[in-house]
Amino acid sequence: LEDQLRQAQKMEAVGQLAGGVAHDFNNLLTVITGYTELILEDLPPDSPTRDLLVEIHKAGVRSAGLTRQLLAFSRKQVLTPKLLDLNEVVRETEKMLRRVIGEDVRLGVDLQPHPGWVLADQGQLEQVILNLAVNARDAMPRGGGLTITTRTAPADHGGAGPRSGPAVVLSVADTGVGMTDAVKARIFEPFFTTKAVGHGTGLGLAVVHGVVAQSGGRVEVDSAPGRGTVFRIFLPLAEQPGGQSAGRSGVRGMARG
Ligand code: ADP
Repeated sequence: LEDQLRQAQKMEAVGQLAGGVAHDFNNLLTVITGYTELILEDLPPDSPTRDLLVEIHKAGVRSAGLTRQLLAFSRKQVLTPKLLDLNEVVRETEKMLRRVIGEDVRLGVDLQPHPGWVLADQGQLEQVILNLAVNARDAMPRGGGLTITTRTAPADHGGAGPRSGPAVVLSVADTGVGMTDAVKARIFEPFFTTKAVGHGTGLGLAVVHGVVAQSGGRVEVDSAPGRGTVFRIFLPLAEQPGGQSAGRSGVRGMARG
């Protein structure tokens, strides 16, 4: 399971990079294999260089095959943003989360009824929750509590500029070791990790940040050494297809109880 998680994080990052690089790379490979074919045609059949060129050509063709796979893979990553209920997304991941965090961490789930719709890719949001939960688990080697919460946030929830509209907030809080300010300043950098070699990729939070930014949201972190950590994901509240803002029903839900 551990390997699967790390692999999923890597694949997500690779997928984001691959699409752009693979396309250009494939064009370059076409030049290499194409010119190699031209030279081979002109070469006398008994030339000692022929075998070498044949090997170059084979390697070029094999590389093109690999980049094609990479392209196909990155296309699979194509996102399908839909109107989602964050509560549903959390419920979808709950079973997996319990397996990930193990026996020593208590899982609390506190979902506000109808927090509102968000426009996002379900698989990506599940990945976000998973990455945050894995980090929380790693921050609590001797056990503790992991609490996942959903809420509707009013328009002026502290964000700046266009992102300060009404939002749906997903919080992932742990009672773990927390972070120093120096660590906190770097956590979203790709490949930044404080974990031992083989235990961290440094990609988890970079992916979280990327996914949330793509959805027009933002990430807030509250953490101090020894005091645990709270990640808050703000996602813009989306309109329902019918035109009614889902958040209003969410606020009503909150007022009811
Ligand atoms: P990785 O988990 O592979 O190290 P991440 O990008 O997910 O990569 O996290 C980067 C770093 O941020 C971690 O190595 C850790 O130092 C810190 N971190 C992330 N989440 C937490 C948390 N819940 N509690 C304490 N530290 C954390």
